[in-house]
Amino acid sequence: MLANNPKKNSLAPKRDFSNILKYKEKNSITDLKLQKKRVLVRVDYNVPLDENGEITDSRRIESSLPTIEYLLDMNCKIILISHLGRPKGKVVKELNLNPVYHKLQELLPSTKIYKANDCIGPEVEESVTRLQEGEILLLENSRFHSGEEANSPEFSQALSKLADVYITDAFATAHRKHSSTYGVCNYIKENGYGFLMKKELDYLTESLSNPRRPFTVILGGAKVKDKLDVINYLLGLADKILIGGGMAFTFLLAQGYSIGQSIKDESKLEEVENYLNKESMGTKIFVPTDIVVCDDLDNPSNIEEVSVENISDENIGADIGTNTIRKFKDILLDSKQVMWNGPLGVFEKTEFEAGTKDIAEFLVRNKIYTIVGGGDSAAAFEKFNLEDKVSFISTGGGASLEIMKGSLLPGIECLANKN
Ligand code: AMP
Repeated sequence: MLANNPKKNSLAPKRDFSNILKYKEKNSITDLKLQKKRVLVRVDYNVPLDENGEITDSRRIESSLPTIEYLLDMNCKIILISHLGRPKGKVVKELNLNPVYHKLQELLPSTKIYKANDCIGPEVEESVTRLQEGEILLLENSRFHSGEEANSPEFSQALSKLADVYITDAFATAHRKHSSTYGVCNYIKENGYGFLMKKELDYLTESLSNPRRPFTVILGGAKVKDKLDVINYLLGLADKILIGGGMAFTFLLAQGYSIGQSIKDESKLEEVENYLNKESMGTKIFVPTDIVVCDDLDNPSNIEEVSVENISDENIGADIGTNTIRKFKDILLDSKQVMWNGPLGVFEKTEFEAGTKDIAEFLVRNKIYTIVGGGDSAAAFEKFNLEDKVSFISTGGGASLEIMKGSLLPGIECLANKN
């Protein structure tokens, strides 16, 4: 491993993997005695809906099936809880879980599934009492209650009345300290994580604690702030870090280039300079050498490719340029493992998708082992129809970023230790 290889990397700090590997000290679903018990499962059914309230991508529901099917085999009474959208503590009709209920019933045609109109309270408790073994009760949107996001003890306690055991399978929400992802564990002491959570944690933590080398990380997206802690954790661990997207402009600014009207975060300049000077830790950081610019991101016009020395005052950087793509490909071709978080340009617009698309297609075509952090990077792989061709796509953007920072997810921290 690079961090322990004194020849290659004498100044690298010893990497601390204890946080991200702590889940191994917790119970997984197969460690618990679940036969015939009432099990509350925190799933993430925060699925995208179109204007008619139809689900446009049901993968989050499908990925919860291994846990649900296991619990059905154990003759459990299954109570599912999720949030949907941002109703901010109020009932928002359009954000009820009815579409999720219909999809779930379609996926599990021979299972009796009920839908509650709330997620706590006497009526819900009554529904749980009536629930038979091998049946499912889907609760209503947890965020219809302000107590959910506030992690209120009252709300957590109300939830805890519904079950004997708590299983978390909501990886994409596990970085949140909410009642149904965190607080409820104070009251349901028999708890653990499900199969989706295990798969996500296994892939992400294995890639960091035991990487195939050379190990290259691609970081993009708009916000630099989010990614600096990732860089900090990966210095001395990754062999190379490729920077693109909006965050690249703060790096270019730190190197003394003019960046025109491109997105930047001046409050992070000093920190970025610091990272650019840390090559001695064994990790080399690459920033773009040419950029696709325009003068309006919403209505793109005057689109051209310029080298980073020639970004004019009016220019807005929107994608990485051809030379940068070529350079990045050279590096990636030599890599045995890639972790990617954040698009390399404004991929939502065809005019600026080339960097993200070319690199994504290149990784797939060359069968380079690639772990994609969720969120916008996952959306990009979906846009280019590559989601089933890449090694692993995480279902959680924010949660996977936390792991890449070396953090312990609150949704795991709150679980009881084994035994
Ligand atoms: P983040 O949430 O920080 O990962 O940012 C994702 C967003 O970054 C996507 O919606 C992209 O459109 C956006 N993005 C990528 N490149 C740029 C850029 N050069 N300027 C502004 N936004 C960008």
